[in-house]
Amino acid sequence: MWLVKHVAARTQGSDWRGYFLIGCVAVLALLLAGASWSARQSSIERTAAEQRQDQTLQVLLETDHLRSAALQQVRGGRGYLLTGRPAFLEPFNEGRQAAATAHERLTALIGDNRDQLLRTRALAIDLAHLNMVIDAMIKLADEGRQSDAMRIMRSGSDRDAIEAITHTLDAIQASEREALAASSRAAQRSAVANELYQYLLAGIGLLLLGLSIVTTNYVRKALAREDAARRELEVFAMTDALTALPNRRSFMSDLSREIAASQAEQTPRLSLAIFDIDHFKRINDRFGHPAGDAVIEEVAKRAKSALRENDIVGRIGGEEFGVILPRADLASARAVCGRLRETIAGTPVVRDDAIIAFTVSVGIAQFQADDDIDHLMTRADAALYDAKTSGRNQVRTTA
Ligand code: GH3
Ligand code: MG
Ligand code: MG
Repeated sequence: MWLVKHVAARTQGSDWRGYFLIGCVAVLALLLAGASWSARQSSIERTAAEQRQDQTLQVLLETDHLRSAALQQVRGGRGYLLTGRPAFLEPFNEGRQAAATAHERLTALIGDNRDQLLRTRALAIDLAHLNMVIDAMIKLADEGRQSDAMRIMRSGSDRDAIEAITHTLDAIQASEREALAASSRAAQRSAVANELYQYLLAGIGLLLLGLSIVTTNYVRKALAREDAARRELEVFAMTDALTALPNRRSFMSDLSREIAASQAEQTPRLSLAIFDIDHFKRINDRFGHPAGDAVIEEVAKRAKSALRENDIVGRIGGEEFGVILPRADLASARAVCGRLRETIAGTPVVRDDAIIAFTVSVGIAQFQADDDIDHLMTRADAALYDAKTSGRNQVRTTA
């Protein structure tokens, strides 16, 4: 929950993107959990199938042992009856012992499989029956009643017992093979499901990767657009619309910065000039406000062309401009501003047959050690006032 809020808060204004990213992470987490589960499941099934295969092989082996042991027992018994040679009693006894051992192992292997257990019990009865029949024949033969023994043998009682044993062994083998086949099918199904899961995971992973790239790209572009708009707004807020010069706010901040820079130097030298168009009201009155605007624009253009690269000119009032002259003492500021005054007043503005001549008055103050920005402005203003009252169209300085 904290994560959801955190991510959503970080993507304020673009909620859907935040939630989309959370969704991607959640889907990926689910897929990874599902894939791990599926892989584990498949491994369990595979191990079970391997164990089952092992058991089936052992069961088949033991049933075959038991089958041949029972046959050996019968062959030994019959050999003894037909020849009367005790040498046949050895394979007979061996077969009986081996059959009993195989039956014991088989019962242990079958474990708790109910149907197979019933079959092993039936097998025990069949084996006991076989033993009983052969024992009876041997006993009769040993007592000299050979013809009675042969009669039992011809009746095929021992063969019937062997057939019953074989039949049960076949049933045990068939059941075991069937269980192995079922377990292999389950493992196969699980492996296929796991494979599909892996493909699905890879597919959705790629899809999410693609979507993340698209989203990241989108966010990057949106941020770049936002950044450009913010910078444009900043420039707009600091620029005068008519002349494209820095406005008063921007000019004052430039002035503070330049004052600080000059104070950092060993011998601070900085001058400030303020110039104002003379009798501008008359221009407005005579030629109209738009013509007045055109003059302001032209003054700005000429001021920029007359100043040095490092000088900063701004429009600080209606028809009033400020000039920051870094590294300029009063004398060099006076020289620059003299050129400025001449450049501005040099040619009249021609507009709709009207020839508009104009001049400017300039006041200069040099930054002093105990000055601050307001004091400096006030002193430059005083110099401008001096220029105005002294007849205009001239440059005046204040110490
Ligand atoms: P002075 O020589 O003493 O400076 O006389 P002035 O007529 O220039 O006097 P003042 O500075 O008081 O008048 C400035 C006039 O400029 C007043 C105002 O109507 C006009 N003005 C201010 N801003 C603009 C502007 O953006 N465009 C135009 N056309 N006129 C403006
Ligand atoms: Mg004026
Ligand atoms: Mg003025």
